[in-house]
Amino acid sequence: MKRLAALKPSLLMVLLATLFAGLIAIVLWLSRAYEQQALQTAQEQQTRQAVQALRTHLSETEMGLQLAAQRGSWLENREGFVDTAKQFIAADAAIVRMELRHGNGSLIQAVDAGPPRPALPPEARLRQNFETSVALRSAIEFDRPVYSRPYYVQLSPDGGFELIELLVPLRNDPGENEKSQAAALAVVFPMPRLLATQLPANFLSRYEISATEADGTLIARAGAAVRGESFVTSAAPLDLPGASLIIRARSAQQALAWVPSVLTASLVLLALALIICVQLLWRHLRLRLATEVALREQHAFRKAMEDSLVTGLRARDLRGTTTYVNPAFCAMTGYTENELLGRSPPMPYWIAERIDEHERRTAQILAGQVTREGYESEFQRKNGERFNVLIFEAPLIDGSGQHTGWMSSVVDVSETRRIEAINRKQFEQLQTNTRLSMLGEMATAMSHELNQPLGAITSYAAACENLLAQQQLGPLQGALSAIRQQSERAGQVIRSVQAFVKHREVERMSVELDRMIERLLPLIQLQVRRVQARLELDLQPVTILGDETLLEQVLLNLTRNAIDAMQAVDPVRRVLRIELREIVSAIDSTSGAAELSVLDQGQGISAEHEAKLFSPFFSTKAAGLGVGLSFCRSVMERLGGQIAYASRSGGGSCFVMTFPLTKPAPLAATRTNLSQPQHESIGFPD
Ligand code: ADP
Repeated sequence: MKRLAALKPSLLMVLLATLFAGLIAIVLWLSRAYEQQALQTAQEQQTRQAVQALRTHLSETEMGLQLAAQRGSWLENREGFVDTAKQFIAADAAIVRMELRHGNGSLIQAVDAGPPRPALPPEARLRQNFETSVALRSAIEFDRPVYSRPYYVQLSPDGGFELIELLVPLRNDPGENEKSQAAALAVVFPMPRLLATQLPANFLSRYEISATEADGTLIARAGAAVRGESFVTSAAPLDLPGASLIIRARSAQQALAWVPSVLTASLVLLALALIICVQLLWRHLRLRLATEVALREQHAFRKAMEDSLVTGLRARDLRGTTTYVNPAFCAMTGYTENELLGRSPPMPYWIAERIDEHERRTAQILAGQVTREGYESEFQRKNGERFNVLIFEAPLIDGSGQHTGWMSSVVDVSETRRIEAINRKQFEQLQTNTRLSMLGEMATAMSHELNQPLGAITSYAAACENLLAQQQLGPLQGALSAIRQQSERAGQVIRSVQAFVKHREVERMSVELDRMIERLLPLIQLQVRRVQARLELDLQPVTILGDETLLEQVLLNLTRNAIDAMQAVDPVRRVLRIELREIVSAIDSTSGAAELSVLDQGQGISAEHEAKLFSPFFSTKAAGLGVGLSFCRSVMERLGGQIAYASRSGGGSCFVMTFPLTKPAPLAATRTNLSQPQHESIGFPD
């Protein structure tokens, strides 16, 4: 059976078809054999019936003769015999002659049938015939009708026929003791005539009939002439007292049709229908098999996908009972599938003191209040460890479109939260470091910057002292106000540094970038003056959402780098340029971007350095920390913008910050004072 199952389906089909063909061939063959057998049987039966009819007729003749033999004393009454003989001849078409014979065989009286029945040569009848004398003796001996064995009579030089005689002993008179004195009636039948006249007409017309002796000697023929290659033959014995004959009937074998009967035809049709059914079934089976394989593959694929998922999946029915959990969910919570399936709230991974919150949330979900954004929650592993999860809920719809429950995808975000916290800390650290590193530089610039107002204050204070000593109070007022102005100038420098150093959390608020740059100018000027560079501003009024303190820091970082890069170039080339413009999207007028660019004509950046520019701790400066640009990029990413570097065609670098804008139009309108682009060129301070 296994071997059979291992066979190729097509081979199996061929095998099946061959079996069917074989079966049909056998059925046809059996049916033909059966038909032939039926024909044979029918012919045999007809032969038996025909021979029976012949026998019956002969028996009747025998009885008639016996009655006649007993009726009269024929030896005396010769005329009576002639009359009786004529009656018999008239009644039986097979009889050609009737005789009255002595017991010794000598002829007493004979009546011939006359034409058209064949006439026997008289000499043949006068001669003592051996067969007749044997039959005569036994008829007289046993006192009953006896037939002679057939004997041949030559009628003409080219033909004759076999005769058979029926001998019936006459009733012996009392006193006549000697058998030799006995007499008998004899009736002569030519065998061909007996067959031709006494066998049924339909039997004669259908078959070629022959009569033979037991040893096969042909005695007579009658009936239709049959031609052909093969024949159906049947035989029946014709047992007569004194002579045993066999009557044979022969017919040509009919060519039998291959679909000879309704039975066979329906069998063949049934077999054909069966083959078609089997083939259809086979096709259906193959289709089912293919579908099954596809389903299995799909199932395996889904299983593999499910097992490889890191997202936990949990399905609940409409009452909140857990109906499915995937391996990731089990791994996440530490509970096995068996521990979770079929469980209803409260769930084992809920946090005990927050069960109310969990229950409220579950009730909301089961009531259909789910959001696409998902929600955060906290679960507790089997080992007691707690972890943050982000859960997304979606309705579970079955194959017939019925809402059967809820599917949740659960993401363990505890690691993400931890990394976020670390990142935040690192960013704050970076911010502080950057600020402090810049503060060092600024302290130098500031001391230089403060020298001037402090020097002026000292001179004005000395002048005040002199004026007081000389009692000149008039100009004292002007000198004191100059002192105040100078100290205010110094205070402004210090305040700008203080403001810069002050640490704040990252926040998002409306920032007017142009104004911010203007406020930052004293600090930028500090940097610019250090290398006797020129500052060019090209600012459009732009408002963005961001954190002003961080943006200040970014801008100062970029300007500081630009100044550093220009230290080594020709003083004429030392121009720091800051551009701020708004770009309106060509597709959507309500969205656009703001671009803040810091350009210098310094030494520029080699292609090799360009790739590492924003990596932390990349620096080409002897005392550089390499955190500035990396900090700038972090800030820009946090604010949803970006920073990019481009080299300038005439030498130098260009750093462009892009900020997304959502409502650019009203900003320009509300701020009329800055609606015109400013082209301000600031030269060296005096
Ligand atoms: P640091 O200034 O401490 O080196 P940064 O991250 O600010 O760190 O800068 C990294 C490096 O990028 C600098 O060392 C310098 O080689 C290069 N760089 C930054 N800005 C410019 C510029 N405008 N022109 C030329 N090189 C620059």
